[in-house]
Amino acid sequence: MTPTASQKWLALLRMRCPHCCAGRIYERGMKMNPRCPVCNLQFEREPGYFMGALYVSYGLAIVFLLFGLWIGSMLLPTLDLGWIVLIAAGCFVPFVPVVTRYARVIWIFFDRWAWPSRPEDRE
Ligand SMILES: [Zn+2]
Repeated sequence: MTPTASQKWLALLRMRCPHCCAGRIYERGMKMNPRCPVCNLQFEREPGYFMGALYVSYGLAIVFLLFGLWIGSMLLPTLDLGWIVLIAAGCFVPFVPVVTRYARVIWIFFDRWAWPSRPEDRE
């Protein structure tokens, strides 16, 4: 059965496999499963595969920092912009692990959407 678009979005939010939407991508913490425990889909297709996740991570960080700048300039309009940038960057630090995990998950989902499964990915 092919998952619907809403099932895929839910699987992305829950960090589940893009193929079956059930298997966990992360075993625990930052440790990824090499393959889906349910459908055996290979998550890392080739060496250096997660270089693409860096672009996603960068984009998420920019969105977070711009949002922090906007909030900071609303709450502290008299404070120097440099300080607001520094505070926003400091507030971002605790979110780095979450952003890194989601960047990889988003990358896997994008990659599987743009270049669907090859037969050897599930051997
Ligand atoms: Zn799966």
